[in-house]
Amino acid sequence: VGTTPTKIPVLDWEEARGAVLKAVQDARPVPRIEEVELPAAHGRVLAQDLKADRDYPTLARSLRDGFAVHASDLPGTLAVMGELRAGEGLAARLPPGHALEIMTGAPIPDGADAVVMVEHVERDGAKVTIAQQASAGQFINPQGAEAAAGNTLIPAGTRLDASHIAALAMAGHWHVKVFRKPSIAILSTGDELVGVQEAPEPHQIRNSNSYALAALVEAAGGTAVIQPIARDTHSELKSALERGLEHDLLLISGGVSAGKYDLVKPCLRDLGAHFAFERVRIQPGQPTAFGRAGSKFVFGLPGNPGSSMVTFQLFARPALELLGGESQPVLPILQAAFEEPFKHKPGLTRFLPARFTANGLLKHVAWQGSSDIPALARANAFLIADHDRETWNAGDTIRVMLKP
Ligand code: AMP
Ligand code: MG
Repeated sequence: VGTTPTKIPVLDWEEARGAVLKAVQDARPVPRIEEVELPAAHGRVLAQDLKADRDYPTLARSLRDGFAVHASDLPGTLAVMGELRAGEGLAARLPPGHALEIMTGAPIPDGADAVVMVEHVERDGAKVTIAQQASAGQFINPQGAEAAAGNTLIPAGTRLDASHIAALAMAGHWHVKVFRKPSIAILSTGDELVGVQEAPEPHQIRNSNSYALAALVEAAGGTAVIQPIARDTHSELKSALERGLEHDLLLISGGVSAGKYDLVKPCLRDLGAHFAFERVRIQPGQPTAFGRAGSKFVFGLPGNPGSSMVTFQLFARPALELLGGESQPVLPILQAAFEEPFKHKPGLTRFLPARFTANGLLKHVAWQGSSDIPALARANAFLIADHDRETWNAGDTIRVMLKP
């Protein structure tokens, strides 16, 4: 009944992310399975282990253009037995003292145990002279070395990237079982908001978060369902929140700070929600709230565009990924070196817009704060300025989260 907790949990961002992962992992329903055709499988989450249908490679194959030989014959002069191209069937057994001309990818004849690159061979009609020694196995990709028949190539719960598409194609899978995409409700709140196609008064702003969050949701593999803007009143918010909780996950933008009209949390509590955290030691995004209402998870993301973008990526995205059947959401964090000195105010861990330059170094993108969409649009990454360090020199490294 809208009671205020006596102690609001405040977490570091890693702890908060860990709390999200644990809560959703422990309670998520098993997603439904559907079948898509291979070309539509990119970005989907595999719902069953993909097994190798045969050995890869199926036969020992040459890794180079050259000659298949007995390594023990070298150095020496060998009789050329003929030529074998990729796509041709297996040649007869190679007798000692002989070499078979062979192209990359062609099967190694029985008896041969090495390939000598064509560059190291002197040819004279039906004979080749090889001055070098060869070690057994050189330039041969042995049968089953990449995967043996029955091996798991991709475990269930993997989000399929281009290499996974290659693996599915390689193993002959046209029909692919994937998890249904989770349905993610997006609810922007605020009396100051107008629709994108409306003419805002000077004191009004257009609702950009609903569309930015929808783009983030779709990029993360969810189906975004944008709800109408909710005004900052109990009655309007409560019915909007109830509708949002019909989806697999509810993302709310705005209304979670400490202001008088920040009514999202009290309204959610009225609907039976409990929060795992309501504050994270980061900027932007400090007032981020994560909780559960009934069987559904819900995020209250602060309304400033930079805040909602960063907190989506840190906290809501892994929840979405788990609800979509992914077994192990990861946040890729890179290390980058600064092109110029950089300074921030310690105390909170800051996720600040930054840009990788053409030479691979990182530059801070100046901004007016988390409302500054034009600065976000100039960035291609967020640097992660730790709460306990103030200055970085040019060349010093810092952690970076790529902009999704
Ligand atoms: P709030 O978290 O509700 O206090 O909102 C903080 C600020 O974020 C507001 O003053 C708005 O300027 C901005 N904001 C809130 N919601 C949106 C939205 N849907 N789209 C763009 N900006 C927003
Ligand atoms: Mg607001």
